[in-house]
Amino acid sequence: MYELVIKGGRLIDPAQGINECRDIGIFDRKIAALTHEIPPSEARKVIDAQGKIVTPGLIDLHVHVADAIIPLGAAPDEAGVLRGVTTICDGGSTGWVNFPGFRKYVITQAKTDVFCYLNICPTGLSMMREIRGWDDIDTEATLKIAVENRDIIKGIKLRAVNPLAHKLGLKAVKVAKKVAREAGISLMVHIGDQRNRKAGEVDVMDAFSLKLLPLLDKGDVLSHVYTAQAGGVIQPDGTVPPELRKAQDRGVIMDTAHGRPNLSFEIARQGLAQGIMPTTISTDLASTNIHGPIFSLLLTMSKFIALGLSLEQVIEMTTVNPARALGEEKRRGMLKVNMPADISIIELTHGDFMFTDAWAGNEQKGDILLLDHLTIKGGMEIIPKPRAKNEVASKRPF
Ligand SMILES: [Zn+2]
Repeated sequence: MYELVIKGGRLIDPAQGINECRDIGIFDRKIAALTHEIPPSEARKVIDAQGKIVTPGLIDLHVHVADAIIPLGAAPDEAGVLRGVTTICDGGSTGWVNFPGFRKYVITQAKTDVFCYLNICPTGLSMMREIRGWDDIDTEATLKIAVENRDIIKGIKLRAVNPLAHKLGLKAVKVAKKVAREAGISLMVHIGDQRNRKAGEVDVMDAFSLKLLPLLDKGDVLSHVYTAQAGGVIQPDGTVPPELRKAQDRGVIMDTAHGRPNLSFEIARQGLAQGIMPTTISTDLASTNIHGPIFSLLLTMSKFIALGLSLEQVIEMTTVNPARALGEEKRRGMLKVNMPADISIIELTHGDFMFTDAWAGNEQKGDILLLDHLTIKGGMEIIPKPRAKNEVASKRPF
């Protein structure tokens, strides 16, 4: 007897090449069966998923959920299980000083599984322009917290922006990488200074980002691959620099990390047309964008379908790919017997939708919008939060 059976849904699990109708039986918070037909008589409760897409619990590799610890912090479950996502990873909201509070008061309280990248700045993103000099980096203290919290901390985060870039230069990236390697974890680097490029010249920050790319190894994360801000790696005229292609070939993770400033549809179109695909689709959800214009991972996935990716591709980029980036592929990112029962049940709707990339100011028409229908976290049903009216056709100003 199963505690719960999800019946009749179209199961899409790219890691296992599954795209067909299957039933899922759940027992003791785990997946207990995955077959073409489970009789209702074997279930204590049946969820009718006919007409719905059933996927491994979605994973958002880049959010900011140090709620009430930093100003940018959204509530983890609002970015997570209340929006169809069972696992989220915080992209460097906290450093060694405030991570313990984040862990104790936020991460352990959330229904959503929360991992994080530890910021090389001691107080993380408590205040932006967070690193102004070498005094703002304490490698020993950062390493100690990273090693002591390996169950949650999956990498070290550095924002390659000013004033760090011109005051500390590439050495800062090397120092952060050294800490990451000593802890046995990956490095996540943010590119994109919060200003526009100057027309007609190679921006000094673009040049800085190109120089740091060779420092990234397989499994390290390049955040904001499609940014149009100063420091972006795909150039305004669409040029894909060889450094970026080499990084992709080495297995550096190309992450979208949408955010308000850091996804440009125009840059993404250019990149996708030349084979610079996202490894992972993530939102960069924070208190400043979760109520618009970013809203959710499913909306961000819908935008990439509108840009030409397939449904299977966007699911792969939000399930097994981020699971691998986190070294968690044995526990999440696919649907297998004995894995925790983390499952997203998604409604695929058709219509005329106009998507926006927020600050970059581009629009993209699309005809598919993915919506959260029901989330199963560790075998428990979680009903999604009501959606905002302006969730799709949200326009500037924000
Ligand atoms: Zn971020």
